[in-house]
Amino acid sequence: MSKMDNLRAMREARYEAAQKLAKSAPAKPAAPDRPTSAPQPAATAAEALCGHRNMSGRTCTREHGHAAKSHRYS
Ligand SMILES: [Zn+2]
Repeated sequence: MSKMDNLRAMREARYEAAQKLAKSAPAKPAAPDRPTSAPQPAATAAEALCGHRNMSGRTCTREHGHAAKSHRYS
């Protein structure tokens, strides 16, 4: 048996042991890797703003649907 085969056999044995352990362990709710329903403050803030862009690429910082006739780029 070569060294590589030996290593592979060890890895497989460890994998099988882990599988058995997982099967015998009581089921617990799987935790998601990352929250999918996390709030996205950037998108929410953008929605609350007018969002009109002027010629130099700046975005209007007034609220969405503002009554003022002019846009504000501050
Ligand atoms: Zn505006």
